Amino acid sequence: MVLALLTLLYIFPSGSFPRSRLYYSYAAAALAFVLLSYTSMLVQGAVATPMGLVVSYGPMYRVFGLFAVSSLVLGATVVLRKAKEARGRARAQLWYLIIGLLIPALGIGTTNLLVPLLSNASWYGQYGPAFTLIFLGLTAHAIIRHRLMNIRLVISRTVAYFLILIFSGGALVLVTELASLLFPDRTRNLERWSVIVSIVLIAVLFQPISHFIRRAVDRYLYRRPYDYERTIRDMVHRINTMLELGPLLDYLSDVVGRTVQPERVSIYLTLPEGSEDYQLQAHRVFVDTPASAPPELLPASSEVAQYFKTHSASLLIDSPEFLLKAPLNELAAECIHPIFDNDRPIGFLVLGPKLSGDPYFAEDLGLITILVTQAAIAIKNAYLHRHVVLVNEYIENILAAMDSGVVSVAGDGTVTLFNTAAERLTGLQRERTKTMPVTNLPEALAQMLQITLVSRRPQPQRELLLTGMNRKSFPVVCSTSILTGRAGVALGAVAVLNDLSRVKELESEKLRAERLASIGALASGIAHEIKNPLVAIRTFAELLPERFVDEDFRNDFAKVVVQEIDRIDGLVSRLRGMAAPRSQAHRSIDLRGPISDTLALLRGRLEQAAIAVRTDFEAERPMVAGDLDQLKQLFLNLFVNALEAMGPGGQLAIRVAHRNSAEVPRLVVEVSDTGAGIPEAVANRLFDPFVTTKERGSGLGLSICRGIVDAHGAAIRAYNNPGRCGATVAVEFPVWRGVDIPTLSS
Ligand code: ADP
Repeated sequence: MVLALLTLLYIFPSGSFPRSRLYYSYAAAALAFVLLSYTSMLVQGAVATPMGLVVSYGPMYRVFGLFAVSSLVLGATVVLRKAKEARGRARAQLWYLIIGLLIPALGIGTTNLLVPLLSNASWYGQYGPAFTLIFLGLTAHAIIRHRLMNIRLVISRTVAYFLILIFSGGALVLVTELASLLFPDRTRNLERWSVIVSIVLIAVLFQPISHFIRRAVDRYLYRRPYDYERTIRDMVHRINTMLELGPLLDYLSDVVGRTVQPERVSIYLTLPEGSEDYQLQAHRVFVDTPASAPPELLPASSEVAQYFKTHSASLLIDSPEFLLKAPLNELAAECIHPIFDNDRPIGFLVLGPKLSGDPYFAEDLGLITILVTQAAIAIKNAYLHRHVVLVNEYIENILAAMDSGVVSVAGDGTVTLFNTAAERLTGLQRERTKTMPVTNLPEALAQMLQITLVSRRPQPQRELLLTGMNRKSFPVVCSTSILTGRAGVALGAVAVLNDLSRVKELESEKLRAERLASIGALASGIAHEIKNPLVAIRTFAELLPERFVDEDFRNDFAKVVVQEIDRIDGLVSRLRGMAAPRSQAHRSIDLRGPISDTLALLRGRLEQAAIAVRTDFEAERPMVAGDLDQLKQLFLNLFVNALEAMGPGGQLAIRVAHRNSAEVPRLVVEVSDTGAGIPEAVANRLFDPFVTTKERGSGLGLSICRGIVDAHGAAIRAYNNPGRCGATVAVEFPVWRGVDIPTLSS
């Protein structure tokens, strides 16, 4: 008995066998005393007297007494040390054991050890075992309430099965008795069918009744009530307003902690943007336990994760899935409940042992299921919320990083989005634009957005001038589009503003460079053109003193000087024509007028060169906005060039037609000849000044034409006729539209 007690004190509650040498010495001593008890060394004899049993003890009895007492002291020290170090349930179990043993130990020690030792008679020895009843009672209580030993399930199941047995046996007896009562004579024959009926009855009723009895036993033995309904109501109310995952999981851990009262709660989740593995998202410890911290990661391949791919009910330490005991122990878990999103496990609620030591009852699991189902919806919402926040941040970042300004307005005309670039371009502060009416935006921009909202049509690119931060002007190109929702409903409009400052700068730089280049070319051309007549005049002037008397020389001199001066004069007047006056107001002109007038002017030369003229006025009223004199000059240059390119018998064709394929309707005048075509060498530089292939040509004709064409907002190009001889020069005018057209080139 002493050895058994000492062993219990050593191995409880871990179950592992003691390693201490002291224990084994005591065990050896105990075995020695067992052997001695067969000799007269411990007890020599006993006589039953009316006073009780009088025992005459042997010489080793005192040694045995010492051994027993020291064993108890040793056991007590061991168990007290363990109780001090233990936490949670183990501690409670140890204290139950200590108290459970202390009371009978004191009792038995007094009656069976102390009294016989002092009085040499075992007077009260027979009462000693009665103290074990106290031990039994205490242990039974501890087993039921605090899982002193892990046999609570055995008890609950045994009680339940016992009751079920009574029920089924009772049913059998009842039916048999009933049969013999009703048919007393035929009892023997009836017995068989009555047995069959009872078996069928029991088979049918077994499942529901056993379930009912087990629930009733569970409740009777273990129930500790909590307000089920209120917990759920509070949770549903609170959880619906929670959109952040962290506080939501903390709250869930808290509610579970308060109701089911586990030692600790952990929540693992797979994050939508992460891997398949389950990550520890929340962990709460409600009591200090020696259990190690839960792992941060539960791989998707782990046994627990795999288990919930095919199971949806809670996994309990007492479940028949014995194989999963080890993983459950690793997580220090007694119950794991899966969190599902549409039949897909997205996480687990891991619960440690209950603080009370109770098992997880059907009622607890029912509550946990409801809490977790509610939480799963809230978790999904939190994910969605997080996703929306992330997407918004992403869009915000893109918008902030963009060089283009973006402004959007809702259907009711309030500004909904305004990025940093828009702030810079418009000079409006972003914070102030939120829910501001569209009319508070710069007028031109507001107008475009309003037109888009009303017409529900995107507005093509338009150049606007905005005043940005620090009153700086920004030329921008703005385009708008309509924002449509799912069913094609217009949600608002968005405008994109692109800063044109740099483009404009580059454009003007390029223009300046081009102007400088053309001035350079012009200057060298003029110098060259003037130099030739000047050389001639100078040569004559140098010879004049010595040949003054020569009359022929004087006549030549007078002729050449006048001729060369005329040449310079001609050049100067042509140059003046090149700088066509642009300020003159344009008016509507029927192109047929200047064309016919110019042809009439050239009639003599055309007839002399035997050139046929064909005019083809396809357009009914070819009206353009322009200056008549300049147009005549234009056509004169073109016709003369054609004439000079052709030999006798050539044909000059003039065609005037509408061209509607372009965005803006245009009028085209094509001047074609049957000459030699444009020489390749000058094809690219035809419109530059002083480019000529003619012996006495100035190379200014087409350059003057280009000046006139530019002043009319028109375009000019020259090309060799495809598939036949000769060249064509085509001029494209914008059509006169009946109202005053502003001077486009100003
Ligand atoms: P110029 O007539 O004084 O040479 P232009 O500027 O009018 O100066 O013409 C430049 C050059 O373009 C001409 O020298 C000629 O080589 C070419 N050219 C112009 N018109 C025609 C044409 N209809 N056919 C062939 N070549 C032409």
